[in-house]
Amino acid sequence: MTIKQIQRSAWLALTICIGFLAPVLTAHAAAPLAKTSAPGYYRMMLGTFEVTALLDGTIDLKVADLLTNTTPPKVNSALARSFLKDPVETSVNVYLINTGEKLVMIDAGSGTFFGPTVGKLVASLKASGYQPEQIDEIYITHMHVDHVGGLVSDGKIAFPNAIVRADQHDADFWLNKATMESAPKDARPFFEGAMAAMNPYAAAGKFKPFNGKTELAPGISAVPAYGHTPGHSVFVVESQGERLVMWGDLMHVAAVQFPDPSVTIRFDIDSKAAAVQRGAQFADAAKRRHWVAATHLPFPGIGHLRADGKGYDWVPANYTSLR
Ligand SMILES: [Zn+2]
Repeated sequence: MTIKQIQRSAWLALTICIGFLAPVLTAHAAAPLAKTSAPGYYRMMLGTFEVTALLDGTIDLKVADLLTNTTPPKVNSALARSFLKDPVETSVNVYLINTGEKLVMIDAGSGTFFGPTVGKLVASLKASGYQPEQIDEIYITHMHVDHVGGLVSDGKIAFPNAIVRADQHDADFWLNKATMESAPKDARPFFEGAMAAMNPYAAAGKFKPFNGKTELAPGISAVPAYGHTPGHSVFVVESQGERLVMWGDLMHVAAVQFPDPSVTIRFDIDSKAAAVQRGAQFADAAKRRHWVAATHLPFPGIGHLRADGKGYDWVPANYTSLR
């Protein structure tokens, strides 16, 4: 082959390649955006227990309006430090613990009570490999509707084989019609939501309240953290020397409340008591170096706390693929 022939055949090969590639390149450019994220679950081991974070969805919270014992400029500057703006897209997390003997869920998400961006708990549960019928027990941190709304679907029990447990103080407050009637009008939906979610279980004999510190299952205990609501509880999960504390609504806005745990929120029934509980749990987590998980931390909402001056740094869990 002469040099000219080689050049010609190289040119021919290139033209053929481009001819083949052109439709492929065009097809790539025309692919529609997927516009969905990963399935809403994340899994890790805690000793011999399997812990699964389940995403119920996210809600936009106008935190500068909602946070108290602070000012909107302070809130906005704390948000900016964390590369955030108001309103903050806020996760609603639920946790599932498989102890090997029992399948326990902590809280139940929002159901249909909080709009279309949440209420995806059952879809996340199924994506994670479990079915609603398999849940043995559901432990409720407190009876706000973003934590109990998902207990029901169309007004009926959504977890047919589950016993529901929550602190008696929350039951006495949120499930009491006289308390609802004496409360401010704008607080009524909170009571109505709690009753709609809890009453079907109570009527079926499937609601078993506990009172204060209680071991609910081997390795899982309720510990009172009263303040956000009258019976707000955290759940301590322990297996083989590893410890995870499920905080519920001990806090709401990571970017603001980790640097300044004294910041409170309008949803608190007793803000002062809530701040005291938050301070104590933050200090304990940093000192003991245990895992923490919280409903409104960015999904999966599992990590550790490190003391930093008067506040704390949040250290999210290092990703694990459960190899
Ligand atoms: Zn909440």
